[in-house]
Formats: sequence, structure tokens, C-alpha cells
Amino acid sequence: MRWGSLQSASLLVQIVLLSIGSTFSQQAAQPKPEDTEVWQPVPKIVTPGATDAEPPSDAIILFDGKNLDEWVSAQDHTPAQWNVHDGILTVVKAPGVGNIETKRRFKDYQLHIEWRIPENVTGSGQARGNSGVFLASTGPGDDGYELQVLDSYHNPTYVNGQAGSIYKQSPPLVNPGRRPGEWQTYDVVWIAPRFNDDGSLKTPAYVTVFFNGVLVQNHFALKGQTLYIGQPFYKKYDTAPIKLQAHGDKSEPISFRNIWVRELN
Ligand code: MG
Repeated sequence: MRWGSLQSASLLVQIVLLSIGSTFSQQAAQPKPEDTEVWQPVPKIVTPGATDAEPPSDAIILFDGKNLDEWVSAQDHTPAQWNVHDGILTVVKAPGVGNIETKRRFKDYQLHIEWRIPENVTGSGQARGNSGVFLASTGPGDDGYELQVLDSYHNPTYVNGQAGSIYKQSPPLVNPGRRPGEWQTYDVVWIAPRFNDDGSLKTPAYVTVFFNGVLVQNHFALKGQTLYIGQPFYKKYDTAPIKLQAHGDKSEPISFRNIWVRELN
């Protein structure tokens, strides 16, 4: 073979080798569907309720229409004195009764609760079917964190105090309230605030609320406890009960039913 031919053959081999190498490297870099598949851990199986309002298999039942075994007086932790009748729970507005709260304490959770303004409700503004779901009841002397319950069917009031509001912090995105006498639902995701060792805030509480299936609070970051007067502030806590409000107004008391919670921690 002549020198020139040998050089040509060598070049040809190099080109072929480079070409093969390039093909291999292209194949190695080619993404595959399997690259982005995750197989573990497998999510736990939960059996849903017969309807979306019914508790799934991993829910803690807080009220199923039978008794108040899961509840105590928020004031002194004696047995809760609200009225259980016909499968529902009605607020008792009487001296010495007051708010009730769960015996259990929660951190992050999903909550379902149904409430009804009485058909014959009277009063106006904040004095018309006022109650509330305190998403964390942080103890006597604290205001806690209130998701407002109120008759907001043609009942004007300050918008950050109407039904579906985070009281005096965040009005509902819309008003999907039903007329008095009809049952209404709240489905809530509560992410508790986190604190540093010195009591300062690490991350705020976040809340998402569906009111009658309609989104009214979208991952709202709370500014602190929901105060009647003054600017909100945080006070360190870890876990807390859920509290229901016996508001002091003179309107007819409201009722609750079908209360359940799923812990997210
Ligand atoms: Mg209230």
C-alpha cells in the first residue's frame, strides 16, 4: 500500500470510530420516560367516603351526630354543654357555657365541617348568625385563628368579617353562601405556623378554604392571631385544639354537623 492510501485508510477508520462514539454518546444522553418515574414510597391506600362530604377511612371523627365525646368547654375543659339533637349540634348561648374545643390537639390538618344558620335568624351585620371555627385554639387569653361563620346571605358587614373570611385579615375570594336554613360546608387545609426556639416566627400559618365547594382562601399566609381589636401578632405554639365559637350576639344559635379531620403530620 502506498503511503497516501495508508493515510486515507487511517483517516477513514478515525471517522468511523468518531461516528460510532458520537452515536453512543447521543444514545447515553437521550432521555427516557423511565428517568422521571418514581415508584417508592407507594402512597397509603385511603378509602374515600360514600360522598366527598363523608369521612374517608383515615379521618378522625370529631362529631358524627351522636355525642360530644371529642369536645370540652374551652373555658375550663369540663364536658361540653352544647345541644346534641337529631344528629346535629347546636350552640348554647347561656352564662357559663361558651366556646367548645376538641380534646385532641392538631398541627397540620384537613378539616371538614358543616354548619347551618337557622331559618328564622334575626339581627344584622356581625350580630346575625355569628359563630366561628378557630383553626388553632391557643388557650385562654389568646384570640386564636378564626375562620368566620356568619349569615352572609344579603347581610352586609365588613368584608374581612363575612362568612369564609379569616377574621379581619382576609376576605373570601367570592361569596358562595347559601340562604339561612340550608346546610353549608367548609373544607379547610391548615398548615400551622412554625417558630424558632426564641419564640420568633419561622414560617406563618397557611390556610386554604373551600366554602360550599368554592375556593375562598387560597393558601393565605396569616399575619398572626385574628384579633377583634388591633394588629395581628404571633405567639409560639406547637399543637392546638380546634374550637367552635358561641358568639355573644342575640341572634338564634347556629348548628353544626359531620365534623371530621385528617392529620397531615
Ligand atoms: Mg365569629
